[in-house]
Amino acid sequence: MSDQPNDFIRQRIKQDIADGTVSGGVVTRFPPEPNGYLHIGHAKSICLNFGVAEEFGGYTYLRFDDTNPLKESDEYVDAIQADVAWLGFHWGDHLTFASDYFDQLYEFAVQLIEQGKAYVCSLSGEEIRVGRGTLTEPGTDSPYRDRPVSENLDLFERMRSGEFPDGAHVLRAHIDMASPNINMRDPVLYRIRHAPHQRTGDAWVIYPMYDFTHCICDALEGITHSLCTLEFEDHRPLYDWVLDNINVNFHPPQIEFSRLGLEYTVMSKRLLNQLVDEGSVSGWDDPRMPTLAGLRRRGVTPGAIREFCRRVGVTKQDNVVEMNLLEFCVRQDLEATACRGMAVLDPLKVVITNYDGAGETLEAPWHPQNAELGVRELTFARELFIERADFELEPPRKYKRLSPGAMVRLRYGFIIRCDEVITDDQGAVMELRCSYFPDSRSGSDTSGLKPKGVIHWVSAEDGKPTEVRVYDRLFQTPNPGAASLADDLNPKSLVLRQAVVEPAVMASDERRFQFERLGYFCKDDERPDAFNRTVTLRDSWRPPA
Ligand code: ATP
Ligand code: MG
Repeated sequence: MSDQPNDFIRQRIKQDIADGTVSGGVVTRFPPEPNGYLHIGHAKSICLNFGVAEEFGGYTYLRFDDTNPLKESDEYVDAIQADVAWLGFHWGDHLTFASDYFDQLYEFAVQLIEQGKAYVCSLSGEEIRVGRGTLTEPGTDSPYRDRPVSENLDLFERMRSGEFPDGAHVLRAHIDMASPNINMRDPVLYRIRHAPHQRTGDAWVIYPMYDFTHCICDALEGITHSLCTLEFEDHRPLYDWVLDNINVNFHPPQIEFSRLGLEYTVMSKRLLNQLVDEGSVSGWDDPRMPTLAGLRRRGVTPGAIREFCRRVGVTKQDNVVEMNLLEFCVRQDLEATACRGMAVLDPLKVVITNYDGAGETLEAPWHPQNAELGVRELTFARELFIERADFELEPPRKYKRLSPGAMVRLRYGFIIRCDEVITDDQGAVMELRCSYFPDSRSGSDTSGLKPKGVIHWVSAEDGKPTEVRVYDRLFQTPNPGAASLADDLNPKSLVLRQAVVEPAVMASDERRFQFERLGYFCKDDERPDAFNRTVTLRDSWRPPA
């Protein structure tokens, strides 16, 4: 069993509980922007937010941060909900949208204006950017900074009523243009955007900025611990400033932790979007994507992702985690739960010359350690397929698999010996003629023969021809995208195989299997007769030559 994490955030929460500051239970939120699908970095935040609320007797809001109608859509809203639920977390009645609070947000903005703490600025976006100064230079005051309150109220009202085009004015906080923290140099709170919103329709033509919206939503929802990633550390003074200057009686603490990075992939929605748009992958749920939809389609279990997040832990150090750790968690989970089966990905035909019966029924367990899963039947017949890679015309010393004159055991079946090799004009191996030893049946072997190797196989008669997609890492470099994403793509991230799969596997209702000696595979959601490789059996990654 996994031991309970005790990171700095959990320690802080325990302290707050001991001090009596969170008497009503721990309330957290996961606040995705519905502008893309969730990725495994989001899973870290989901596991943390929902995890602490569960551990400390509270609840978690799933709150959509839908303040930018140009980039957001219902497709993403639906996909995000499906992904959070799939990961195993439940928000119950606590599903909210930043847009639910647009009226209140507007009222709070008016409050700031009335106190002289916000003003309508009519500089262009570029002028505002330049005027903010740099890390070493202070900003310069906007010529509109000291507009009278009444004029600001009037203009803001008219911004709302749609009188001005996009970009004509913004509402800015009146803070400190010389602040060492650029976020405090009169940040923009509202902008004009004549765009219909997926939830509020045409009701609004001004939209609040994230930094203004987020803290207020947190306060209105009574979030006891607002957990976010480190890049928001510099925004914390603004988070606090907004809540300190409006009339709201709850002020959550913002606590930052490090983002999850993962080797051999990219994690920002912008870059993932680019991969989809450029056709480098088949979509957000391409099994090579680090999205939850992609990982699910690849066969990764929610339990493996939760365990991965637990092992990564929560710290303040930014780090890029090795892909091996994710693959380890996936294997560990599937090793215990996935049914076993046999498939031949690169079939080589074998004819058993001394067998001409109607087929011998053999039995094999669905799982070597879990007898409860029962057994399946295999048919040994005159014609079989083995893996091309399990035969060598000229074997190296100590070769354990099949070669001319050598013997090998067929898994759960009989020992066979290769008597003859059929080649084509170019010398390519086309077929093997073998004999089998009837008294060598697995489980009741009296032959006294001791072949060194055991190989997997599928009967040619009832084996099912099907497509197997052998997926590998999408990128061939650990930190892709430094120069160009496209240059770093792994050309062998997807290899299609015309394979033959054991019939009991095809007929089973299970989705995930270990194909013996090959790896873990999963029936594809959209084409259940095709398999996606989830992960290899052991860590065998090498960059492509
Ligand atoms: P991206 O950079 O991928 O677009 P984002 O931060 O813009 O991510 P949001 O939808 O705003 O995406 O994120 C929702 C929540 O998930 C935020 O609280 C954010 O801090 C968290 N989150 C996003 N990416 C990661 C990550 N790689 N590791 C941990 N938490 C993350
Ligand atoms: Mg964001």
